[in-house]
Formats: sequence, structure tokens, C-alpha cells
Amino acid sequence: MRNSDWKFCGIKPAIAKDYRLKRYSALIFVIYLHIESEIIKNYYDMKKHNFYAGPSILSQYAIDRAAEAVRDFDGTGLSILEISHRSKEFQAVIDEAAALFKELLDIPEGYKVLFLGGGASLQFCMVPFNLLRHKAAYLDTGTWANKAIKEARLFGEVDVVASSKEANYTFVPKDFTVPADADYFHITTNNTIYGTELRRDLDVAVPMVADMSSDIFSRPIDVKKYDLIYGGAQKNLAPAGVTFVIVKEEALGKVERAIPTMLDYRTHVDKGSMFNTPPVYAIYVALQTLRWYRELGGVEALQKLDEAKAARLYEAIDASRIFTGTVVPEDRSIMNVCFVMKPEYKELEADFAAFAAERGIVGVKGHRSVGGFRASLYNALPMSSVEFLIDTMKEFEAKH
Ligand code: PLP
Repeated sequence: MRNSDWKFCGIKPAIAKDYRLKRYSALIFVIYLHIESEIIKNYYDMKKHNFYAGPSILSQYAIDRAAEAVRDFDGTGLSILEISHRSKEFQAVIDEAAALFKELLDIPEGYKVLFLGGGASLQFCMVPFNLLRHKAAYLDTGTWANKAIKEARLFGEVDVVASSKEANYTFVPKDFTVPADADYFHITTNNTIYGTELRRDLDVAVPMVADMSSDIFSRPIDVKKYDLIYGGAQKNLAPAGVTFVIVKEEALGKVERAIPTMLDYRTHVDKGSMFNTPPVYAIYVALQTLRWYRELGGVEALQKLDEAKAARLYEAIDASRIFTGTVVPEDRSIMNVCFVMKPEYKELEADFAAFAAERGIVGVKGHRSVGGFRASLYNALPMSSVEFLIDTMKEFEAKH
């Protein structure tokens, strides 16, 4: 116990000369120990208010089980970190994770769920490598969409059907036509950097391919409209290291080009994501998240929670005298809420960042392309963190 802690009891035994005082101090010490143990318990239970855009907050449910599995994986006497990916125990993990993907997202027959390495960025190249025969259509909604477009151009004609670049991606383009002769239409459903989101499955003439890195499991998806859905797992699913791919088997094997083995989806379909060593630990954590999602009531329940959190924060931003949102209201993301200070208060941004950090709010700094602030409200973020951020914003506003 530190000396300063004794101030909490209002007494220091070392200076308690009187015996009676010493007896009282012993009693107070016992009471203090009890209080302190409660504080320590809360301290360890408490997390910072984590608004990072990714890697980002994971549920306590997943973290507790992931931590336990590092010590002892499901009673095997081995750590999850040292178990073979070919063991029957890990096979059960990856099978259950794929089955839960199918159950939670209502994935129809004919699709496979893969767990790969390389991040969503590798998918920017794997998608056209495997699916682009002549022409593909892409919607340009920001940085990640652009990176996908750049890779696709290596493989064939790319028709960028619309872009909101001129408006610094503050909206999702709506007025466009997807050519009927495109092999697929690629969209980024949630633009993590700019805070825009396409929260519905479009009706277009060709199958879609979607980067759902930052909004998977935040709403039901009509999977049959897509040939392929992919994403890095480090937002709504797992720690960094695993990439999920949901692919329609029928869409594969149609290109004529030779595909390197590791970049060919068929390799991973045939080998059940075990052609090479998959990211075992990240997949284990993904499984815990998926189990938690099922316990919470599935994607419909998550959607309600997510929409309620985002509505609270946008409401506070809209009511604010000093903060303002950056995105047109109809395209606002429920996962990444971007906001800045109004021009007349612009110079206060650094002060607010420091003010929030002092209160244990982390990860709200906006991406450099937008500036200001970005609060990522992924599935594992509790409403209490959103309320805390709102209170902090109001407190700051009251001071200025
Ligand atoms: N796509 C989106 C929408 C993202 O938000 C990100 C990363 O934040 C990526 C792709 C890139 O993912 P990775 O780092 O896994 O390659």
C-alpha cells in the first residue's frame, strides 16, 4: 500500500502514537483493504473507452476465453498458441466458426466460408485474379475502394460506375448504372475512414462482391446477391491476422489465366482453409466472438444495438454548438462516426483530443483524410462508452 493511499483512511499507523488510535487504524486498515479489493476488481474489469477503428474493441466474453485458452486450450493441457492446426481439437474450432458464420448470416447452400491470411488488402488482388474475365464494375467510395480498383486494373477493364471523390467521400453515390456485361460489381459497404455506409443489399444486373471489413455482423445480409464477401477480421470479429471470405463456389474456375496456388480460392475451398497453416489463434478468438453473437440473439439483435448507439451519438453531434458531422445524414455509418469542430471552434480540436484522452477515451482521432474525430462503435463497444463520450463532449462544450 502506498503512503498516499492511507490518506484515503485519513490516518497513518506510523504516526498513530496512541494505542487506541492504533487499534482504530487497524480496523480502518481492514475496511480499507476490503474497499481497495473492490476498487482493484473494478479496475481490472474496467477498460478504457475504446473507439479505435481497427484493430479495435473485442468483447470481454471473447477476451476472457481467449486468455484462458492461452493457458489451457479446452482442457487439452496445451496452449492454443502451441497446438497443431491439424489436431482434431483445432479442426473442431474452425468447423464451428464456419458453421456459425453460416448460421448467423443465413448463408445459403453453395457458398464456402474461408479463413485466410493477408488481410482485406490481399483480397483486393485475389478477387480480380479469380473473378475478372473481361470487365468489372467498381463503386468508388473512398480509400479502400480505390485500393481495390487499383489492383483490379492489373487484370482487366475496370468501369468505375460512380465516385464521391470530389466531395471528399462525404456520401455514397446513388445515381449510377452497372453494366450488364460486367463480371461483378464491387462495393465497400462501410467506408471506415470517411464514415459512410451502404446499409442495404443493392439490386444490380450482375453479382456483387463486397468488402465488409468494418460492418460485417452489423445487419442481416442477402448473401445470394453476392459472389463473394470478404473482410479483415480486426473490427467486428477477431484480432488482426485472419481474413474471412464467403465465396460462391459456382463463381470460381471461370477465368482462363493461371492463378498461383495460394491466391486461388479453389485451393482454400478444397483444403478447408488448411492448405497452409491458418492463423490459429485469431480464428479461435473469432469463434468466441461468433458464439457471443449467437448468445446475444444474432445479427438482428446486433443491428438494433448498433443503430441505437449510433443514433445517440449522431443526435448529440447534431444538437451540439461546437461539433458537426462530416457525412450527409442518409449515408452515415453506424460503425464509424466522423465529426469535426465547426469552423469557428476549429482551433479547439487539439484541446478536445487531450480532454478526452485524460478521461480514458482512446482512438477518437479522425483519419488524416478527414481530420477531426472518428468514434468507431463496433459491436463490442457498450452503450455506456457512447454515453461517456457524449457526456465528455457536453462537458467540453460547456467550458467553451
Ligand atoms: N477495407 C476496409 C473497409 C478497411 O477498413 C480496411 C482496414 O481498415 C481494409 C480494407 C484493409 O484491411 P487489411 O488491413 O486487413 O488489409
